[in-house]
Amino acid sequence: MSDTLGKDQKHVWHPFTQMQTAPQPLEIIRAKDAVLYAADGKEFIDCNSSWWVNVHGHGNEHIGKAISEQFSKIDHVIFAGATHPKAEELAKRITALLPVPFQKVFFSDNGSTAVEVALKMVFQYWTNNGTPKTRILALDGAYHGDTFGAMSVGQRGYFNAPFEPFFFEVDFLEFPTLENENLLLEKAEVLFKTNEFAGIILEPLIQGSAGMRMYSVSFLENLVGLAKKHSVLVIFDEVMTAWGRTGKYFAMHYCNVKPDIVCLSKGLTGGVLPLGLTVATNQIFEAFLSDDKSKALLHGHSFTGNPLACAAACASLDIFEKEETWENIHRIESSHRYFKAQIEQHPFVKEARVLGTILAIEIETGEGNTYFSTIRDKAYAFFLENGLFVRPLGNIIFINPPYCIMDIQLQKFQRVLIRFLDLLKKDTRN
Ligand SMILES: *Cc1c(COP(=O)(O)O)cnc(C)c1O
Repeated sequence: MSDTLGKDQKHVWHPFTQMQTAPQPLEIIRAKDAVLYAADGKEFIDCNSSWWVNVHGHGNEHIGKAISEQFSKIDHVIFAGATHPKAEELAKRITALLPVPFQKVFFSDNGSTAVEVALKMVFQYWTNNGTPKTRILALDGAYHGDTFGAMSVGQRGYFNAPFEPFFFEVDFLEFPTLENENLLLEKAEVLFKTNEFAGIILEPLIQGSAGMRMYSVSFLENLVGLAKKHSVLVIFDEVMTAWGRTGKYFAMHYCNVKPDIVCLSKGLTGGVLPLGLTVATNQIFEAFLSDDKSKALLHGHSFTGNPLACAAACASLDIFEKEETWENIHRIESSHRYFKAQIEQHPFVKEARVLGTILAIEIETGEGNTYFSTIRDKAYAFFLENGLFVRPLGNIIFINPPYCIMDIQLQKFQRVLIRFLDLLKKDTRN
């Protein structure tokens, strides 16, 4: 054990980790492109892009140079009463990528805060307009972050039970499948007709934390259409889905309807520095304009609009302007689709799903079979032993890699996954 690891165990409290039983964390001392290098000399392919954020690979020189140049100009400055060129540039470039009504960019620090800001915008929009509304609609299984507002609109239960008494009330719609879509749309319309709904929040087309669960473009379009019809404001939480992850800049580019507010983070800076953005239409923004100061959006963070993070985000946008980035995204998607066709008939594959650079394999757990209750930990350990850092969501093993991942690295993931599935086959025969 290296020195650092000893110190880690003494003083560090890790996220989403039962510190008593969790295995020792890997000590990563270097990262380049799609590979993480550990202190003990081992190497791991970063299959989940370091918690879904790293889109261009680690140690990207263009981003590194942008951060360092920015540091020599201005590292940080208060963002109320002051501004700086990189925030201006970023806001301009982001709004240019989004549909026309999106004109105003509010800065914060991460995905959860981007969602908090969106929720505040929605609630205050209605109070500012003199018609307060408090109800919110969300989807079962949703994940929007770990702060209180974001938890309130997310899946209740296991992960946040101790906090549940403090959540505001939210109506949840079942997760859409081809069978229940029409029923859900009818339910939604009944709710919207009460005229009590301030807004609806959605992860468009795919729920990340729920297990890379996908639903149809037509359902999304119909639901948003209904919301618009009844003046319910629509938030798209694109924290996970933006930046090519689903094959386009934004998941909303797959549909003909547009939200009123969009939340961005994760891959925004190339996954290099924390930054969150809540982008609103002019219609939302104008509801906050008044001679009355209390009608302003009275929200902010110490590091709001951090220039280094903005510089990283602008540099990441430069990389997205290169054709090569999109070629890589499409190359990964083709590889996923080819592999999906190969394994979806495997007896231990319940379902294989692909959207853009995301491939998710839902493992058949065989109800009542205790062996499988530990499938997540077994898969995690098995992939690590084989040089792949994969963090499954329950019985869902997925890969959402940095776009620079090489074909041989993708194939390694595929080979190891097949070996893992075959191992399950052997185990159940005993
Ligand atoms: C990760 C995630 C968040 C929260 O972002 P953090 O930066 O972890 O706070 C919110 N929404 C979605 C869809 C996410 O995937």
